[in-house]
Amino acid sequence: MYRESWVEINLDALKKNIEHILNKSKKELICVIKANGYGSGDQFIIQTARECGIHFFAVSSLDEALVLRNEGCHEKILILGYVDPKDIDLCIEHNISTTVVSLDWLKEIVKREVSGLSVHLKIDTGMNRIGIKEEDECIEALNLCLENEINPEGVFTHFACSDDKTQSMTMRQYNLFVERVKTLQYDFEYIHCDNSDALLSLDEDFTNYGRLGISMYGISAHDQTLHPVFSLFSTISCIKEIDADETISYGATYTTTSKEIIATLPIGYADGWLRKNQGRSLYINGELAPIVGRICMDQCMIHTSQLYPVGTKVELFGNHISVQDVAKDLDTIPYEVLTNLSERLTRVYVKNNKPISINNARLERSLK
Ligand SMILES: *Cc1c(COP(=O)(O)O)cnc(C)c1O
Repeated sequence: MYRESWVEINLDALKKNIEHILNKSKKELICVIKANGYGSGDQFIIQTARECGIHFFAVSSLDEALVLRNEGCHEKILILGYVDPKDIDLCIEHNISTTVVSLDWLKEIVKREVSGLSVHLKIDTGMNRIGIKEEDECIEALNLCLENEINPEGVFTHFACSDDKTQSMTMRQYNLFVERVKTLQYDFEYIHCDNSDALLSLDEDFTNYGRLGISMYGISAHDQTLHPVFSLFSTISCIKEIDADETISYGATYTTTSKEIIATLPIGYADGWLRKNQGRSLYINGELAPIVGRICMDQCMIHTSQLYPVGTKVELFGNHISVQDVAKDLDTIPYEVLTNLSERLTRVYVKNNKPISINNARLERSLK
């Protein structure tokens, strides 16, 4: 790593969170590691999940599933999204389970050689994204699978409002899901509806699996005991005292009111540190230092109280500033903040309190 800005992924915290959720939910878990583990780097997440006894992973697309297979993941993989029917042979070849996104999709699939394919029926209970809504279509889909030597190993639904404290929508969706599954009268191996927030709030024992995503990383609407896994750090690359009435950065949007100490950090919006973060404070040596002036593509400036040495570490979020707060101030959700952290940022993996791997994906690819 040659640029002093990085994302730290704390695998000790990750492990504690997964173990806590396994205990609390009393279910088997499918680790959802779509989008490269929400930007964390899926290989280390898989490794840690394995250590917790998890052997089932979910991704969003065939590309993501093939990346896992190429990286040597031999465990069960489910694609939660759409697979183009023309690519279904790859799912069979690589033993990747897929989602029945609609009855029409299944009718396309069975025109092909699909014997040996494993699928999970997605029941749409109110999210109105993918999935089969009507009872007769659910039954027809199950029968189509059985007539065509497709293994309907699983059935699932997805909640729209599991972060809602009242759970009224979640209960409506849950009850409809139970009703649909019972009508199917089939002995599914995997029955799942809970995402992270439902795993940590909905008390139900109809399903045997849950799909764990964001709460692995310590983020939950219902459980405040989890540990933060992601931190974003940078370091001071330049620091100087600026006279009063000078302006900082593009557009001259900030004017110093007195002599001010201004430190530059080598991190900007191309790293996923969005321009809208202008004005928010970062943690440095026990003080909160505001970002002043526009955030540039590769750099931004903060106003500090002291002339810190070049190289002083700055936390953009982590143990002192939560990613939930960053998201709230940006008028978005932590998922979006995390998945926006770009590949340019080095990932540092910490295990047993020590960095065990430092990865810059682009630099590594260029060396191959
Ligand atoms: C992303 C996703 C999940 C995981 O959601 P979290 O809120 O991160 O736990 C579960 N199920 C489906 C279908 C998803 O797309």
